[in-house]
Amino acid sequence: MRFLGIETTCDETAAAVVALKPEGGGEILANEVFSQIAEHQAYGGVVPEIAARAHIEVLDRLIQRALETAKVELDDLDGIAAAAGPGLIGGVIIGLTEGKALALAARKPFVAVNHLEAHALTARLAGGLDFPYLLLLVSGGHTQLVAVRGVGDYVRLGATVDDAVGEAFDKVAKMLGLPYPGGPQVERVALKGDAARFDFPRPMLGRPKPDFSFSGLKTAVRLEAEKIAPLNPSAVADLCASFQAAVVDTLVDRLRAGVRVFGERIGPCQAMVVAGGVAANSAIRRALMRFCSESGLRLVVPPVGLCTDNGAMIAWAGIERLRLGLSDDMTFAARPRWPLDSEAEALHHGKA
Ligand code: ATP
Ligand code: MG
Ligand code: FE
Repeated sequence: MRFLGIETTCDETAAAVVALKPEGGGEILANEVFSQIAEHQAYGGVVPEIAARAHIEVLDRLIQRALETAKVELDDLDGIAAAAGPGLIGGVIIGLTEGKALALAARKPFVAVNHLEAHALTARLAGGLDFPYLLLLVSGGHTQLVAVRGVGDYVRLGATVDDAVGEAFDKVAKMLGLPYPGGPQVERVALKGDAARFDFPRPMLGRPKPDFSFSGLKTAVRLEAEKIAPLNPSAVADLCASFQAAVVDTLVDRLRAGVRVFGERIGPCQAMVVAGGVAANSAIRRALMRFCSESGLRLVVPPVGLCTDNGAMIAWAGIERLRLGLSDDMTFAARPRWPLDSEAEALHHGKA
């Protein structure tokens, strides 16, 4: 089974071709990603209008290139998948419409993919990972702990009540004068800093429900930065290192709560998976490895290129769904909001 996947929900335009391997798992035949970072840099964040225009400009060429790299024609595909949300509505409409149009023209099954479901299933692309598992999704737009029980069967155990963790990295970077996107900059600068210099809050520490909060931490960094202004490079490094240390402690503590809740509600937790751009952070990766090895959990971290937004994850989610007979028709509308557990709820209520 071969799938084209299209991703346009945020600031990456992406198209990929993935094939299902006979032994399970997928093979990525092409994975084209056009990141719009340069377009948004001057504004210090993603501008929805600019994002939508940039998607229109590059999407056709990107799909063409993906098909060429994969050496397949539209006709050779078994289906086409496009992210239908959640995300910036202008961009979502562009990718979704393109996906539907290609599916209609080539008479192929069409799958409307939940972007979060694609993140959740990516770890299975490499093969050898069975349900259920615990997903930590940490990106610029999302911070959630999700029990992945099966395709279309998700239980959201906890989520951020305010900022996403990537958003906190980006905002802290901005207030310290570091360029956008801030996450990689904060990590780089933190290497030279003293993580013990500032004792920043670890929000939600010890709470039984695995929710997150990063807005208070972000404010604490701002207040401290204002107090010690003017900032020199060593102060910025100490602020970044202390901030990152607080994030690491918070994530590990919330994860511990997540594993406990998973055990109570789902069953014994044996594996955990990380997804989202923040999973690129090596201090966070190290902390997760330590936590998982101490707790006897298998940790699956997809390569960084599959953690951030990409088309391969959309194609793979399309494969996982069509394999179960799930596809969508041309009436499927773009969804700016689309909680991951809505389908399980709908199925559940439908049965009841
Ligand atoms: P979505 O939430 O819809 O997936 P997104 O485009 O914001 O949207 P990603 O592309 O997965 O998400 O990730 C981008 C985020 O990851 C940004 O907030 C960025 O700062 C953060 N990030 C990337 N690298 C690092 C890093 N090394 N350390 C910390 N944060 C990072
Ligand atoms: Mg992105
Ligand atoms: Fe994403």
